[in-house]
Amino acid sequence: MQTPKMREVTCPECGEISNVPVPEADVKLKVSPYRRAFGDYTEIECLDGHIFWVYYC
Ligand SMILES: [Zn+2]
Repeated sequence: MQTPKMREVTCPECGEISNVPVPEADVKLKVSPYRRAFGDYTEIECLDGHIFWVYYC
């Protein structure tokens, strides 16, 4: 089983660092406070309970 790569992202609300799994080492991440209807994304909850979304570019 392959270990997913992890990348640090910053919560847009409070600046807390969260770790997100990324499918590829060279993928770009785009943090958004809004859910969008397209693209690959993952939902993140920071340590303070803010929900935001990370999109893979
Ligand atoms: Zn937060």
